[in-house]
Amino acid sequence: MKIFTCIKQVPGVSEVKIDPKTNTLVRKGIPSITNPMDNNATELALSIKEKHGGEVIALSMGPPQAEEVLRQALAMGADEAYLLTDRAFAGADTLATSHTLGLAIKKILKDSGDEKKYLVICGTQAIDGDTAQVGPELAEELGLPQITYVQKCELKGDKIITERVFRSEETVIIESKLPALISVLKEVNDPRFPTMTGIVNAHEEMEVKYLNANDLKAGKENIGLTGSKTEVFKIFIPEKKGKHVVLEGSVEEMVQQLCNNLKEDKLL
Ligand SMILES: Cc1cc2nc3c(=O)[nH]c(=O)nc-3n(C[C@H](O)[C@H](O)[C@H](O)COP(=O)(O)OP(=O)(O)OC[C@H]3O[C@@H](n4cnc5c(N)ncnc54)[C@H](O)[C@@H]3O)c2cc1C
Repeated sequence: MKIFTCIKQVPGVSEVKIDPKTNTLVRKGIPSITNPMDNNATELALSIKEKHGGEVIALSMGPPQAEEVLRQALAMGADEAYLLTDRAFAGADTLATSHTLGLAIKKILKDSGDEKKYLVICGTQAIDGDTAQVGPELAEELGLPQITYVQKCELKGDKIITERVFRSEETVIIESKLPALISVLKEVNDPRFPTMTGIVNAHEEMEVKYLNANDLKAGKENIGLTGSKTEVFKIFIPEKKGKHVVLEGSVEEMVQQLCNNLKEDKLL
């Protein structure tokens, strides 16, 4: 069984700069990391493989430097990695991103004999774009049932059984037959650290395979900026509001003062 993990490279800083002319993130000179929840996705894929067998395939769409996040997945234990990279993919919104990822998954499945039983695991959301749309849109692309906000997951036969967070406080148990797509929360597991051997193998022995628009037989109208239906009117960092208040005194005095302040601000 193939287990795909979708991995996005994101800026590794808490404050990003925005180019006011183009309304896009300034990525130059900013260190990049694996989107944290995507490490949880890879960890889940590896733990399923360890229990039930299979093959873990890491996928990322991005510029050539996104190869590094795929090498990290290989170092954790993924069997194969594919980087979807082409100038024609640039400027993709979530719809064009999901379409491109979907084409790659279909191609990999077809090239390996049209396997019918597979699982796709995404992070719930990326820390930069933050839309949480790619997982659900990718499920639609592939015509798969989807379970989002997953905090527990196990495979039983040809079904996955998940615990999903519902309205922040409740949880529901949802199961689905494979093939299926799930998007996971950080609570689902603690990602392993790659071993030294894993890191060396990932950089010296293993290959990151590149796929471009031609390889995917992607129609220009569905990829990159042309395939993007979203229009960004403005993107900005919210102004910091409110002042920093330090409460002093005994616990009772501080609680009293806190209640008075909240009442003054009509929050209590
Ligand atoms: C008009 C427009 C133009 C844009 N232009 C660019 C651009 O030029 N360069 C750029 O980097 N971004 C660009 N973006 C942002 C980019 O489209 C989104 O970051 C991307 O579609 C993912 O959305 P998200 O970050 O909200 O991910 P979410 O939907 O929050 O991510 C959920 C999960 O989906 C998976 N995932 C998301 N993105 C990828 C990916 N690329 N590869 C593999 N898995 C993924 C991961 O598992 C992730 O945890 C643009 C967005 C818009 C609207």
